[in-house]
Amino acid sequence: MTFEDDFAARTILTKVRFERAKKTIPGGAGSTARLPRNGWNPYPIFMKDGQGSRIRDVDGNEYIDYLLGLGPMILGHRHPRVTKAVADAITDYGTCFGLPYDLEIEAAEKVVAAVPGIEQVRFTNSGSEAVGIAVRLARATTGRRIIVRFEGHYHGWQDTVYWSNHVDPKLAGPASHPRPIAMGPGVPAELEATLIVLTWNDPESFVKLMDERGDEVAAVLTEPAVFNTGCILPEPGYLELLREQTTKHGAMLIFDEVITGFRFARGGAQEYFGVTPDLTTLAKGLGGGFPVAAVGGSVDAMRMIADGSYSHSGTYNANVIQCAAVSATMDELAVPGLYERQRAVGYRLADGLKTLADENGIDAYVEGLGTVFQLWFANAPIHNWRDAAANANEAAFTRWYQEMVVRGVLFHPLQFENLFVSLVHTDADVDDTLNAASDALGIVAREF
Ligand code: PMP
Repeated sequence: MTFEDDFAARTILTKVRFERAKKTIPGGAGSTARLPRNGWNPYPIFMKDGQGSRIRDVDGNEYIDYLLGLGPMILGHRHPRVTKAVADAITDYGTCFGLPYDLEIEAAEKVVAAVPGIEQVRFTNSGSEAVGIAVRLARATTGRRIIVRFEGHYHGWQDTVYWSNHVDPKLAGPASHPRPIAMGPGVPAELEATLIVLTWNDPESFVKLMDERGDEVAAVLTEPAVFNTGCILPEPGYLELLREQTTKHGAMLIFDEVITGFRFARGGAQEYFGVTPDLTTLAKGLGGGFPVAAVGGSVDAMRMIADGSYSHSGTYNANVIQCAAVSATMDELAVPGLYERQRAVGYRLADGLKTLADENGIDAYVEGLGTVFQLWFANAPIHNWRDAAANANEAAFTRWYQEMVVRGVLFHPLQFENLFVSLVHTDADVDDTLNAASDALGIVAREF
């Protein structure tokens, strides 16, 4: 049976839902990232419920879930402690006061205790908002205009940063000096002059730029490990170089830890790599599955927010659902030994996939940590977007996804995304996943 036939037979009720949804929801789903053109072919799977590491669709198929809501479900689905904390808070207090309250202080104190670069924190609603706040704050603080960012990174959908994610290298010019490319229609072309785009993991072009224009740079904005082009870890010394050069030239360093936060370690990639930024953006893992994001930094970096001269406003900022979720999630993530245990579970999966790929003669390697990684179908190492565009076999990855999803294992269908392992996935989940992968990679090996 072909994948198409197999998938169609398993997703009869999903297809009915998709046709219905398309009438009232543009494209049939609530985010462009969930549409067929973004990999969910022939249609996105409609979900019914999730529990722990497993998720079930409307046709009753169960999946081991490595999509994890694209990251937020770091504690698995319906984590009892976090769910109860939110339910209790909204029952006992309410949801939204438009004024501060105790649980907000508690949530802030716990984030400050967890993340090395955060002495003060403001809560907001999404990662895109958090990045927008950080970028404008850096411009306000430094009185400069230029934001330096890197090809292949994603920092949300706001006009200021919705540039140069997965660009066509032919349009973007040489890797030593890429041209910013807006990632979709509607982004004002004038904003190009406010950005400098560089190739990541390339110390020479970064130092050259800072030598030439460092005094114009408000901030260098980076994912401390790239998860919006599969997974790419920083080369040894690269984050330290970003830190050293931004300090030298009076620019701010922003770590966008929307994915790495609470995932690399409780204190995020900055704890894991030991490099402290001026500003940090957080979302996804922060609320254990509830919608909350944050921007934080040193007292000095947050001073214009503190004195009110920079307006970070928002009706829903720090609402009760958010703060209850953050507070309970922070408690859960503080359980001693949790990260060590889960990294080991995740590494067993990652190493097992690599072994199976090798046994099947597939050119592939794994990059990342046990709690988030990617299986690169590539015959040469990938250090940045240009390498990924040249070396990754996207079609092979998608075939692997297809053969896994019909075997009850869910992750994102695209090579340039990644696999999330929650803090509640078990060794049994890994065994089942490797069993499925053994068959699926055998099929991929025959086709590629
Ligand atoms: N920054 C990074 C690194 C992200 O991965 C994302 C989302 N994938 C965002 C920002 C935007 O977050 P949100 O989707 O919550 O707006």
